[in-house]
Amino acid sequence: MMPDHSFAAKAKSELCRKTPARDCCAAAELYGALLFANTFSYDELRLVTENERFRERFLMLAKRVADAVPEVRMQSGKSLITASGETARKLYTYFGYEQRGEALHLNNAFVENDCCREAFFRGVFLSAGSVSDPERSYHLELSTRHFNLSREVTTLLMDMDFEPKTAVRKSTYLIYFKESGAVAAVLAKIGAPNAALAVHTALIEKELRNSVNRRVNCDTANISKTVSAAQKQLDAIRKLEAAGELEKLPEVLREAARLRVENPEEPLAALAEMAGVSRSGLNHRLARLCELAKNL
Ligand SMILES: [Zn+2]
Repeated sequence: MMPDHSFAAKAKSELCRKTPARDCCAAAELYGALLFANTFSYDELRLVTENERFRERFLMLAKRVADAVPEVRMQSGKSLITASGETARKLYTYFGYEQRGEALHLNNAFVENDCCREAFFRGVFLSAGSVSDPERSYHLELSTRHFNLSREVTTLLMDMDFEPKTAVRKSTYLIYFKESGAVAAVLAKIGAPNAALAVHTALIEKELRNSVNRRVNCDTANISKTVSAAQKQLDAIRKLEAAGELEKLPEVLREAARLRVENPEEPLAALAEMAGVSRSGLNHRLARLCELAKNL
């Protein structure tokens, strides 16, 4: 399998760099990862991940928090983490579930502290999150098959002052963020400041590129305006000259005509400076030449 160099893989690896210092946060992170695993029930745990660092981190947290040792198997380049029997039950009951069946609701007792909320969403993102490369688009999403869970987790994000959007894709419930600021804020919150910075940088570079493009387009428009105005003046001057009218004109007009003929590509402001008159003064003289040619 090709090593994964995607932005999402890098963000996940960054999240795996520091081990949670507090036990409450270690439990909350494991809880987030379990709730958003493929299956988290009384009899079975099933979690598929492509990220080796997350796999190792998950196993470390399961041991540290619940003294559980799930099994790992490689399956077409992905790590399949599974637990059944006693091990599955240990993880399940640790988080306060007593009923047989699947964990369909959030147990708020594990996400009461601010520190634990951040750790919880780190676990959720590692387990079931993705983020697109900010060079292409701004999108971060979390997905689950459980409707109630998606609602409860959305509410928790809103309590943390985020503004998540939700959608349903096939039978999967998505919680997602679209704006660059929101994507960066989530990444920073859950412990990936470098990934957050990359999102900010991508936005700034994009804005810079757009403003340079705008300026270039604007300059181009000005240049073509100058060229077409000068072209009109040159035509008029040639017409007056051919009719023998140019030499009969007052000195100031002949001087303006001479300047234009000698500097066909200069903008009006530069010509005015050469003539030692104001821009509007010279503009007036050139306009007069055009008018005289028209009246011929
Ligand atoms: Zn905590």
